[in-house]
Amino acid sequence: MMIKHLIDGKSVDSKQVFETINPATGETLAEVARGGQAEVDAAVQAAKQAFPGWAGKPAAERARIMRKLGELITAHVPELSEIETRDTGQVIGQTKKALIPRAADNFHFFAEIAAHMDGESYQSDTGHLNYTLWQPVGVCALISPWNVPFMTATWKTAPCLALGNTAVLKMSELSPMTADRLGQLALEAGVPPGVLNIVHGYGTETGEPLVCHPDVRAISFTGSTATGNRIVQQAGLKKFSMELGGKSPFIVFDDADYDRALDAALFMIFSNNGERCTAGSRILVQRGIYDRFVADYVARAQRITVGDPMDPNTIIGPMISPQHKQKVEHYIALGQQEGARMLMGGSLPELPSHLRGGNWVAPTVFADVDNRMRIAQDEIFGPVPCLIPFTDEADALRIANESVYGLSSYVWTENTGRALRMAKSVEAGMVFVNSQNVRDLRQPFGGVKASGTGREGNHYSFEVFAEAKNVCLSY
Ligand code: NAD
Repeated sequence: MMIKHLIDGKSVDSKQVFETINPATGETLAEVARGGQAEVDAAVQAAKQAFPGWAGKPAAERARIMRKLGELITAHVPELSEIETRDTGQVIGQTKKALIPRAADNFHFFAEIAAHMDGESYQSDTGHLNYTLWQPVGVCALISPWNVPFMTATWKTAPCLALGNTAVLKMSELSPMTADRLGQLALEAGVPPGVLNIVHGYGTETGEPLVCHPDVRAISFTGSTATGNRIVQQAGLKKFSMELGGKSPFIVFDDADYDRALDAALFMIFSNNGERCTAGSRILVQRGIYDRFVADYVARAQRITVGDPMDPNTIIGPMISPQHKQKVEHYIALGQQEGARMLMGGSLPELPSHLRGGNWVAPTVFADVDNRMRIAQDEIFGPVPCLIPFTDEADALRIANESVYGLSSYVWTENTGRALRMAKSVEAGMVFVNSQNVRDLRQPFGGVKASGTGREGNHYSFEVFAEAKNVCLSY
């Protein structure tokens, strides 16, 4: 199979190709066109030419096409989830039930936002009326990581296109396959050629020319903090939103609903193979319940199934690549050297022969972690939780905030006052109280500190995908 670029509605080759690999088996799934400056230039040019026509369409017409695309995604959930699971190792239970259906929701949601987009008006005492026009920005670069690629690509494409912009989408080189189908379905839904272009390739060869291109007006980037920093330094004056890494605290006070907190603490690090930006990877537990919580946590974690991501009963699949597996294993070794107590993990699960070429790591639990250890400070991005004891509210807050990151956070307590105080003071873009990460597409999604800048979702997506123009009339 061959995955090509989508430029101006046409499938386009490159002289060079790379392979995308099934992380569960090591088999090659497809050859992928390896783009560079020339392909980026062609895609940006196509997007630039398509912009006036698309931006000039009535919002209701763009919304109709977005809804159609959402319907087509829904009709293809089984196919798309199988492709996504093969390409990423994210388990089929998640891709089929949550991640791909959510992609369809993204288009329906932003179709409504665009159709009902409203400006503001201010009448002043000086005899002036000001009103705001929300206008599209132009050509946008949309850059996605590998961990939940289809959902992320659509989370960007839907507001970008619905608000009248045109796009050049660059997927991660590790997971390009479902975006290829997105491009085809978009054309089928009636998205005109050139409005959504997709260029495949590596970060420095394809991503960098794209973000630096002078005709690109806005960048919506999701990926690592290191890459985000590099893009901000190189891209020049553009609008951008940066959705970056995390090391989110999951804080359990001794008055919490114990069973629900335990369930959620397992879910928030072991779902999506732990390859999740909002993972509750630092589990802070109050001393009074710490020993019991650690024992119950490990007992439950030991029952989690690791194996074939195509099996609906599997909870944890493989890591995305051999390099990422090595990174996670490096942190498992480091945690032991740093003196954390490793309560499970280390040895690989027994796997059937067809999975032996995959990038497997054993889910690993560290307890008695000191927050200053690197396993507590660095984003491991795998199924490796750190359990950290704390004494009281002030101690929990101190530990939670002693991190360069600030993406999500989780607070478990039955004490309302404490919940409100923690929610106010924890340094994070999102706080979930007595809940795992449950997304409402109207909420602002994004982080603070090294987890990024800008928010996406609802009208917050206007920050990157729309310009507010003020019109002032004297009367
Ligand atoms: P990455 O930064 O290595 O790559 C992300 C994307 O950027 C890829 O498409 C890559 O090809 C491209 N890229 C790399 N160098 C580039 C450059 N110089 N210019 C332009 N593009 C470039 O990240 P990754 O390993 O693919 O993804 C994992 C990271 O993403 C984790 O840190 C995770 O926390 C983060 N993430 C964040 C969110 C969020 O919403 N905050 C969501 C998912 C993942």
